[in-house]
Amino acid sequence: MVADSQPGHIDQIKQTNAGVVYRLIDQLGPVSRIDLSRLAQLAPASITKIVREMIEAHLVQETEIQEPGSRGRPAVGLMVETEAWHYLSVRINRGEINLALRDLSSKLVVEEQLALPQQDQQPLLERIIAHIDQFFIRHQQKLERLTAIAITLPGIIDTENGVVHRMPFYDVQEMPLGPALENRTGVPVFIQHDISAWTMAESLFGASRGARDVIQVVIDHNVGAGVVTDGRLLHAGSSSLVEIGHTQVDPYGKRCYCGNHGCLETIASIDSVLELAQQRMNQSMGSMLHGQPLNVDTLCEAALKGDLLARDIIVGVGTNVGRILAIMVNLFNPQKILIGSPLNRASDILFPAIADCIRQQALPAYSRNTVVESTQFTNQGTMAGAALVKDAMYTGSLLIRLLQG
Ligand SMILES: [Zn+2]
Repeated sequence: MVADSQPGHIDQIKQTNAGVVYRLIDQLGPVSRIDLSRLAQLAPASITKIVREMIEAHLVQETEIQEPGSRGRPAVGLMVETEAWHYLSVRINRGEINLALRDLSSKLVVEEQLALPQQDQQPLLERIIAHIDQFFIRHQQKLERLTAIAITLPGIIDTENGVVHRMPFYDVQEMPLGPALENRTGVPVFIQHDISAWTMAESLFGASRGARDVIQVVIDHNVGAGVVTDGRLLHAGSSSLVEIGHTQVDPYGKRCYCGNHGCLETIASIDSVLELAQQRMNQSMGSMLHGQPLNVDTLCEAALKGDLLARDIIVGVGTNVGRILAIMVNLFNPQKILIGSPLNRASDILFPAIADCIRQQALPAYSRNTVVESTQFTNQGTMAGAALVKDAMYTGSLLIRLLQG
């Protein structure tokens, strides 16, 4: 048994080390081999070997670095080579599919948004595969070497095996999306819940870059959260989520599709918020909300212009979300709380309501250090999938496949 596990163990170390070196070159490049050895805490001989493999695979290239003020021969620095490597990032949401071709630096090559109706004769899996096939045919001329496919979607997902157990909006049961696409394309497929992937994207490229402990709350059709603790995404690689949307805030509240009553989602999701606004408009005839279509934009506009009803509704969302966040602040002591929501249009009202609630209800020593900010990406788009690919390069799992050719 020991003999059997030995090679696997060595492969794992090789993969981890390669991932660490690639991350350092990607984040700091151009960087010298000597600095890499120091930063990665690996022997110079190991760095030389890993870097040689990456150069031969065209993942890393050499460049000259001229130290400022130095007249000597320029030093040799290393940089990642990204343009010849493409991947497909897909996002599926209610009624639509976004497909984007990006290179390994996450730069966008081409992106399309297409309709993906909730009801259709053809099973969802077949429709997704057809969309991907046609996308590749349309953009064949632009496509460089395809390295991976990343897909983000709402639902209950077995990320390890690429199986989607259930989805909101679509009739899906045990959809083998990952295996089906791997069979068809021959490249690895990464699937992740959209809120978890968005949390990774903010952490790698966006508003929480550099923060070790972050709570990101999404208030949209669904309400959910992602947690980064000590620099790592909580529940990465499992089907678990930070299910704050299904925490009870009103024991006498509406029944939720999860089977419980008065979940945060039944109060704070966009649809619930608009429904509440509609009900309360009848008791508030002077509200600006009358005489125009009711949607997130008109609600936020009215609140910002001082409409009491609209303001009260948004403060209510902030208070309900803030109450749950106060508990999470005591658990995770985050430096940052990010809010991703169409309600961020009225962030001047929403964020102080959340922050006040946290200040009143969480441990002062923790809540004092916490700031509430907007996510950088206003909608999840295909940067969430880009984060999955970047992460797979940094952990070495995708990198090692590319090195092996
Ligand atoms: Zn629920």
